[in-house]
Amino acid sequence: MKIEILAVGSELLTPFYQDTNSLYLTQRLNDLGLEVSFKTVVGDDRESLLVCIKNALVHADVLLAMGGLGPTADDITREVFAETLGRQLVYCPDIFKKIEARFRRRALAIPAANKKQAYIIQGSEVLENKNGTAPGLWLEEGRTRIALLPGPPAELKPMFEEFVWPKLAAFQKGFSSRRVIKIAGLTESEVETRISGLYPKEQGLGLTILASPGQIEIQLYAFAPDASGLPAIKIEDLGQRILERLGGHVFSTAGEELEEVVGGLLGEHRKTLAVAESCSGGLLSHRLTNVSGSSKYFLEGLITYSNQAKIRDLNVPEALIQNHGAVSAEVAQAMADGVRQKAGSNFGLAITGIAGPTGGTAEKPVGLVYSALSWEGGVDIIKNVFPGKREQIKFQSTQKALDMLRRHLL
Ligand code: ATP
Repeated sequence: MKIEILAVGSELLTPFYQDTNSLYLTQRLNDLGLEVSFKTVVGDDRESLLVCIKNALVHADVLLAMGGLGPTADDITREVFAETLGRQLVYCPDIFKKIEARFRRRALAIPAANKKQAYIIQGSEVLENKNGTAPGLWLEEGRTRIALLPGPPAELKPMFEEFVWPKLAAFQKGFSSRRVIKIAGLTESEVETRISGLYPKEQGLGLTILASPGQIEIQLYAFAPDASGLPAIKIEDLGQRILERLGGHVFSTAGEELEEVVGGLLGEHRKTLAVAESCSGGLLSHRLTNVSGSSKYFLEGLITYSNQAKIRDLNVPEALIQNHGAVSAEVAQAMADGVRQKAGSNFGLAITGIAGPTGGTAEKPVGLVYSALSWEGGVDIIKNVFPGKREQIKFQSTQKALDMLRRHLL
């Protein structure tokens, strides 16, 4: 069984865009025990695309092509496939009505260019696009089964899952199981040391560590050629042994982000939160409000960037800033207390630091961040010096603040 992935788009041949869709498709194919034999990236150019399609028809049993189904003149995938296969393009009024309705919902008139998306290749099955205008197509030519999918990942993924995955499941060669264990508060080498000896040696069981600033992920993968259920059992067993070694440093085993976990805990404990941010510039509030239902526990977030804002809005004493500096444990605590009292919340979280690249001194280097958690009758303050660039320092400071609250709630 030969499977080919064909990514169409001139932007994918520049240094600025990557073909990430094929990584996603490869992972999902691997979940079925299927492997990709060929992967091609081709620009929006008729001649080149023609060659790629002809080639694929010679050697591929399954061809997953994506991109170039849009309304613009450089979107030629549908047309070139029709030409290569010697099939007509057929106008489908139903598809046009759906695209028109999509524009109408956004109070827009349908642009003339979108009409071409209502043409399908003769003999193909339409794959509805619930997240965009370009419908996908499924067709068979000789021994080759072909899927044409839209390029934007937010459109491709749900379409693949709903319509293409069930068709490919007929070729399933095995069964797999995955788990992601997410960790905050440890470095990659600390995680490595703690789990040493747990790296699986047997075939069909894998463990990978992915480190990014502020978060380490351990990815577990198990595969078996039969329906014995062994992969899930192996993942469960290995996962348990890893959890025993890492304890409370693990914040998620079901894929959730840290802000979701913290939101869940706040909800469970029926507690509320307000935050005061300086160097994180609102990122903490943004992450907290990314979680649906956050209005139940998140009361307010203030970006008190200047000294005046800290004094005026959080009642941070001016003398405290003068004596210790805005980036200090004392000011972090005053910010956390101040925002908690102002909002009348159970918890106050505050972040103050130097995100860089300028503004650091020998005494207070770039990356120095104080995070403070305040509650009725107590306060916790942590000093960190985070590595990395400005945005990475901002992210790590929000990660630390969220993790402080998570550990406190636990
Ligand atoms: P649309 O109707 O949105 O134009 P389309 O099928 O024509 O859909 P393209 O125009 O080819 O899609 O690509 C739209 C965007 O989707 C690209 O700018 C790019 O950001 C993203 N994209 C396309 N192909 C890929 C890919 N293989 N991997 C990741 N992203 C991709």
